[in-house]
Amino acid sequence: MNPADAPARWTRRQLLAAGAAAPIVGLIPAARAAASPPATLVVSDDSCRWHTPPEWHQEQADRLDAVLTAIAPLAEAGRIRRQDGRPATEADLRLVHTGSYLNVVRRDIAEGSGELSTGDTRLSARSYEASAAAAGCGIVAVDAVLAGRTRNAFCAVRPPGHHASAQRGMGFGIFNTIAIAARHAQRRHGVARILIIDWDVHHGNGTQATFWTDGGVLFFDTHQHPWYPGTGMAGETGEGPGAGLIVNRPLPEGSGRTEVLSLYRESLVPAADRFRPELVLISAGFDSRLGDPLGRFTLVEPDFAEMTRIVLDIADRHAGGRCVSILEGGYNLEGLGSAAAAHVTELARA
Ligand SMILES: [Zn+2]
Repeated sequence: MNPADAPARWTRRQLLAAGAAAPIVGLIPAARAAASPPATLVVSDDSCRWHTPPEWHQEQADRLDAVLTAIAPLAEAGRIRRQDGRPATEADLRLVHTGSYLNVVRRDIAEGSGELSTGDTRLSARSYEASAAAAGCGIVAVDAVLAGRTRNAFCAVRPPGHHASAQRGMGFGIFNTIAIAARHAQRRHGVARILIIDWDVHHGNGTQATFWTDGGVLFFDTHQHPWYPGTGMAGETGEGPGAGLIVNRPLPEGSGRTEVLSLYRESLVPAADRFRPELVLISAGFDSRLGDPLGRFTLVEPDFAEMTRIVLDIADRHAGGRCVSILEGGYNLEGLGSAAAAHVTELARA
């Protein structure tokens, strides 16, 4: 029997005997959460707007407006509720980034540099605070999901983070929000197995690098290849304890529903069922949608909805439904809004 189907009255010992993952300290039982699922939590922070690239740049604060406006009807219907984040502390950021890198970011900003010296990322006076706010939203969402205050959560944040690694920001990103959220779950909540799914059109090289040898994170990434940043070949699979836990599925330009959903069913689902994650995180980039200026995939709203359902099924089977989704890319404002709404609608239906 699937332990997720176990009666609510089962003891911890019975659940473990049925093959359930060891319960995480402080969690309410999955069965109880399922009986009265609270609305999906949407975590956002106005400070994310403080990162202000030049006007011509694609990554702007109006991306947040596009997302929040598109999901506003769900809030009015009581299906999502909004929560503010909190700024990530230096200790939070150092879960992933080195102290010397944080100093580089502060120095570049103090010197008035318009560009991060480690890579192709614009800087403004308050980019550090904006990026720390994004990371803090991820942490608040993980705390809420692991405490059982909500079944799942979506973080409407910017700038994107999945290209940033320990010592190097790049690809519009300064701090790796999803990697920090995963490390926070590992180190501060004792979560042993975390699945990170990245459906942004670009490879999440920073997330991959963070967990390359980790062993506690299964990273699954579909992305356009060849394309920025050039990494994410199928042969990149992790090392040491992480060997086999990095799963890259590069796809040619023009890929869409057929290619991506086949990989979700035939590659992601079996890998996740073997891994049995206790928490599922999504790098939800919507630049994989049709018509994005920075990608050449053809996914549309029903595809994002179906991908979300597949991911939530995994979360239901193994993780008591616990899922935190974090906004990454998406630069066609109309497409970004409608795709994010399709995604959050499914989260709220869970
Ligand atoms: Zn992207």
